[in-house]
Amino acid sequence: MKLTVLGATGSMAVSRKGREFYGGATSCYMVQAGEDCVFLDAGSGLLAAPSEFPNPPLILLSHLHLDHMLGLGMYRRLLMKGEKTRLCMPTPDVESGREMLDRLYSPPFWPLSLLDCAGELELVPPRFPMQYGAFHIESMPGNHPGGCLVFKLSSGGKSMVYLTDYEYTPDGFSEIVDFARGTDLLLCDGQYSEEEYEVRRGFGHSSPEKGIHLKERCGAKRLLLIHHNPFYSDTELHVREALIHKPGVHFAHEGEVIDL
Ligand SMILES: [Zn+2]
Ligand SMILES: [Zn+2]
Repeated sequence: MKLTVLGATGSMAVSRKGREFYGGATSCYMVQAGEDCVFLDAGSGLLAAPSEFPNPPLILLSHLHLDHMLGLGMYRRLLMKGEKTRLCMPTPDVESGREMLDRLYSPPFWPLSLLDCAGELELVPPRFPMQYGAFHIESMPGNHPGGCLVFKLSSGGKSMVYLTDYEYTPDGFSEIVDFARGTDLLLCDGQYSEEEYEVRRGFGHSSPEKGIHLKERCGAKRLLLIHHNPFYSDTELHVREALIHKPGVHFAHEGEVIDL
């Protein structure tokens, strides 16, 4: 599997001087295995994704917060007649997914329904575990206001776990540890410092320290901290990253590629 970070910023896209290194696009991670491609979330990072693939790519949405769907409206593939993209939404069924998608992407908030674009957007039922080409995909609920799915992608004997928009609580933590046990790469929400977390309990995010605690408990080989605070500059993020001092742990930055 090959992971490309297309967007690692949380909550809101930013574009300004001093944020070039980590990047300001919101959550989107491209995972490729052989001729197959899965996108984890469709934040504004999706605009940097390629549009040509041997097989139709699958977009998995962890939840429906705007920062995770922001890129869908301008994904180039949806303008390519005859090209299919599959989308799996965390809704009870395809019909309610379609309704949610149209609620966000339809007039007066958006010129047209994404289901009426030249490229075909096919909604896939959210049934896990799911086999998608070279990928085996599992899921479990995380802990975030309104809910959020945690995903595990496995292929070629390797696995990665995507734990975005996750707030640590003692309840349910052991299930997450079991789910992520021994994974090769753990992507984990590290938006807040521990001090910030104390005043933002219930907002649904974690800190690098909590991610490291999970990595150690589940025995993940590497930890990639994601969903960076949009208000921080590169300098502030570098300082926070430098405080970590743990092997196999770093902050994701846009354009980064990790081979598993
Ligand atoms: Zn988010
Ligand atoms: Zn969220």
